[in-house]
Amino acid sequence: MKKFLALLILSTLLAASAPAFPATSRLFTAKEIKKNNETIYEIGFRLLNANKIDKRMTFSYSTKDNVNASTSHINRNIIIYDGLIQYISTEDELAAVLAHEISHAVDSYNGIFRGYLEFVPHIFIPRKYERKADQRAVDYMVNAGYNPVALIVIMNKAFPQYRYEVLGTHPLTSRRMAMIYEYIYTKYPAFLVNNPYQNNVYYQNFLLNSEHNRKKFAQKVKTGSKKKIRYDY
Ligand SMILES: [Zn+2]
Repeated sequence: MKKFLALLILSTLLAASAPAFPATSRLFTAKEIKKNNETIYEIGFRLLNANKIDKRMTFSYSTKDNVNASTSHINRNIIIYDGLIQYISTEDELAAVLAHEISHAVDSYNGIFRGYLEFVPHIFIPRKYERKADQRAVDYMVNAGYNPVALIVIMNKAFPQYRYEVLGTHPLTSRRMAMIYEYIYTKYPAFLVNNPYQNNVYYQNFLLNSEHNRKKFAQKVKTGSKKKIRYDY
């Protein structure tokens, strides 16, 4: 079993010759702001309810073209910008982005004065919170019936690749995707064994660009090591 699972990690581009990427109908429609807003609220609240998150937060769509989403620590409003919406093709991908932001909004309630000072550690150790939000996003998605592999898909499709993370607020996207892959594999392996994203062009590209990191992970699985992997650029 272990051997099979280690092979699974390394099974790159198995379906490279399979017919390309199935046609997807777009989730969002240009200029239909009300409809786009409603799609965002509905999936956001579905994630909250399915995960029994009893902290209040709201969701909004912004027509600004930043390829980003953000969470206000002041009023717990989660915004997805149109620049990122342009990349989102499926409900799973939208749920991935919202689930990550929900983690930040949940954290904004921690600590004294109703979480008033919670932004401080986010400034000094932001990448710790980003890693936590990526892991929680996987859990939140699974609990709400979404496929967590979509978190890797949307990142590989839309998030750029910087050279160094030392001054960055986020870990490098390559590292984030490898850590998410490891987390899904460890906690929810069924999503990788029966993976409907196997032929997805963005997932295939992740398999291609993460081969060195997945080799590191396969080695960890093979040896049974518990050591945290430092994934490469
Ligand atoms: Zn974040």
